[in-house]
Amino acid sequence: MEQRKVIIIGSGPAGHTAALYTARANLSPLILEGHEPGGQLTTTTDVENYPGFPEGVQGPELMDKMKKQAQRFEAEYRNETVKDIDTSKRPFKITCESGTEMIAETIIISTGASAKYLGLPNEMELIGRGVSACATCDGFFYRDKIVHVVGGGDTAMEEASFLTKFASKVYVIHRRDTLRASKPMQKRCFENPKIEFVWDTAVEEILHDENGVTGIKVKNLKTNELTTRETDGFFLGIGHTPNTAFLNGQIELDSHNFIMTKNGTPDTNIQGIFACGDVQDSYYRQAISAAGSGCMAAMRAERLLSE
Ligand code: NAP
Repeated sequence: MEQRKVIIIGSGPAGHTAALYTARANLSPLILEGHEPGGQLTTTTDVENYPGFPEGVQGPELMDKMKKQAQRFEAEYRNETVKDIDTSKRPFKITCESGTEMIAETIIISTGASAKYLGLPNEMELIGRGVSACATCDGFFYRDKIVHVVGGGDTAMEEASFLTKFASKVYVIHRRDTLRASKPMQKRCFENPKIEFVWDTAVEEILHDENGVTGIKVKNLKTNELTTRETDGFFLGIGHTPNTAFLNGQIELDSHNFIMTKNGTPDTNIQGIFACGDVQDSYYRQAISAAGSGCMAAMRAERLLSE
């Protein structure tokens, strides 16, 4: 069976950066790209907050550049998705959905997290044209515009607060009449004059023309009344799902299924298995912080292999 010093699972900014660093350390990493090569950034358009690109860069282009940079040092990418890893003994066995098996002395998990969407018709096609699940990434494009955020947790409150820096009005649509968000985040939003809450309400449809989102159709869940609301932007703030199901409980996860890492390092509870990027980060979730943690995971793997 093929054996590698380092196998990296996932190919977003964390995975590409771990690939670059381990490749430059002569560890010949193998990167198993997963179902969505390039990760969440491939579903965004302009990225204006990744340092080094004064004019901004398209998400897919940034991922492509990172991959090419790692390949320049002979990182090997393969179109495989991991189904299972056996953490019971090191080196570890990895089984892919294709049936291919391989052995890794160290594993770097960078499988990311996926923003949750409502599952409405057109929702995915309108990403980048009025629909977004990342206010930090896209808020800038809504200067003096009206936006709606859906959700009642900390993510939605954070998105709503951030969007008030740009938008003229931010409406938060929540399906109940109490928020799940922490009290300080609630307070911050209640006190912000630009934010208005629309309670007991579900979004039924996203309205659009050829340029993008124009409004949403919502339903009051208490009265069943349907109304149409004009909006320029529609932000999802209903949480993220970390891609950890394939670990089958072998790696310690927190209560939201993100991988637990130790004391600010990429170390997991299993020696030789490291985690970086959004799969272990429910807080920052930025391309640059993911890339930074990918570097850290690579350096930890290299250190362990040389000990
Ligand atoms: P969350 O706490 O699970 O909240 C998700 C919200 O979305 C809930 O209000 C939920 O409504 C709503 N929702 C879920 N599915 C929905 C659907 N299909 N339709 C309509 N509404 C839906 O998720 P989160 O806000 O992402 O937070 C996750 C964790 O990260 C929390 O522990 C949070 O404290 C933490 N976090 C912290 C910060 C921070 O400290 N700055 C920022 C972000 C996240 P219901 O309330 O009715 O269930």
